[in-house]
Amino acid sequence: MPGVPPSARPRACWSVYPGRVPAASDSPTRPSSAISGFDRTFVDELAPLTVPWRGADVPDPALLVLNGDLAETLGLDLEALRSVDGVALLSGAASPADATPVATAYAGHQFGGYAPLLGDGRALLLGELVDLHGHRVDLQLKGSGPTPFSRGGDGFAVVGPMLREYLVSEAMHALGIPTTRSLSVVATGRGVHRSGIEPGAVLARVAASHLRVGTFEYAARKPELLRPLADYAIARHFAEFLGFPATEAEAGDRYIAFFEAVLDRQASLVAQWILVGFVHGVMNTDNTTISGETIDYGPCAFIDAFDPSAVFSSIDHGGRYAFGNQPAVLKWNLARFAETLLPLMGAEPDASIAAATAVLDTFDDRYNRYFVEGLRTKIGLVDTTDASDLIDDLLTMMTEHHADWTGTFRALADELRGAPSSLATLLPNDDSSPWLHRWHTALDRLGRDRRQTADTMDRINPLYIPRNHHLDAALRSATDGDMTSFERLLAAVTHPFEHRDEWAHYADPAPVSFTDTFQTFCGT
Ligand code: AMP
Ligand code: MG
Repeated sequence: MPGVPPSARPRACWSVYPGRVPAASDSPTRPSSAISGFDRTFVDELAPLTVPWRGADVPDPALLVLNGDLAETLGLDLEALRSVDGVALLSGAASPADATPVATAYAGHQFGGYAPLLGDGRALLLGELVDLHGHRVDLQLKGSGPTPFSRGGDGFAVVGPMLREYLVSEAMHALGIPTTRSLSVVATGRGVHRSGIEPGAVLARVAASHLRVGTFEYAARKPELLRPLADYAIARHFAEFLGFPATEAEAGDRYIAFFEAVLDRQASLVAQWILVGFVHGVMNTDNTTISGETIDYGPCAFIDAFDPSAVFSSIDHGGRYAFGNQPAVLKWNLARFAETLLPLMGAEPDASIAAATAVLDTFDDRYNRYFVEGLRTKIGLVDTTDASDLIDDLLTMMTEHHADWTGTFRALADELRGAPSSLATLLPNDDSSPWLHRWHTALDRLGRDRRQTADTMDRINPLYIPRNHHLDAALRSATDGDMTSFERLLAAVTHPFEHRDEWAHYADPAPVSFTDTFQTFCGT
């Protein structure tokens, strides 16, 4: 694993609003009953972390995309969501009739530098819903206008990046990776200043919660808030620790266990990112969740060729958040999280530091275990412990030949079925043959049927990921008002394992001319 990542000066991703920032609270918003039954446990239990607020008015709302499956899981009425009232609610122009939206406070380390107050500068938490499986989730709007946390930013978002978050988060969900989900994107009809004027948009996002490491960094400076926040997070995400330990005298152990549980979920999450070639792009502590979900798809991307140093974000000049640096950066973020919990871990600071350090020291092993287990599964070698050499040599070979990460694992399955031609386009025969021989021997030793193994591999190795060149083209067209390419790509990446002829081109790596120059912008 690479060492401690370099830090760079924090930079804002957004442009400063050129005129007076409109005060959203000045203008009355109408109520909407398109979604009702919101809960507000976060506001009730942690009011000092919230400011009641409302969205800016929306000149000309148009629903660009609505997630029917997710709406159904949330028990929401699709027709109501599509109605004028529903679209007004999803754009922030109307407030839920039975809930008070809030902007929430948090802090964060951005590119290594501490910002004591960030908060929802362009988001509103509408409230909480309990889905059909009994899970409590937040419904949040992103891009709904300025708030008290906007810090000179305009509070808005634009069509391209909101559709990017919609599509990539839904693709991640389809890949089985914990993530916030996207319910809708509404175009607002407002021109928003970015590098030029861009069409404004609001994303409706669903999350297990919006608690972040940054929320704890904020609360750490307000001692009366820290324990209620930690207890709320435990109740919401790790209810198994509620009664642990039995005596209040040993309550510190609960918070150590809490830290360990968050660390474990996050180690697993980042291993899953690496296994699908995902680069988050802005792993600031305010973008590291307590729930273990991926959050905030800004300048994110999927790698084509395996390359630990791959950076796509236009603002990541130091490579802090490069593909292969993600585990090390996460560990750094988790160290910041542990620091916030120290006062809860016990009365004796040295003992708390020792306990937190002991947990943090388990990170590398946990991450490596998740990664190696995942990679073994990708090559059909579950239930075996001695595949490390095979894995290392495969990664070396793929790096050397710039083999397409996603394509290689599907090609390996084809090779097992006796169709080696696609693999031959990715790895030269002379190099791959000895490796393939060792791989086959390992499978034979385990008594694995080759065809069955290939089919199992195809159920976990995606064919379609949101490849940068396709996503970029789809977002450009969508920004110009044509949603056709976006919808097609969305259909493919939300069925990532299912081969269809009409989706074949989505499996192709980007042309070299594209990969050499591609950058994503958190231009938001
Ligand atoms: P993000 O990069 O989306 O995680 O955002 C980092 C911080 O910048 C958060 O506090 C956001 O609310 C804030 N932010 C991002 N874009 C804007 C914007 N256009 N206006 C105001 N605040 C913003
Ligand atoms: Mg963020």
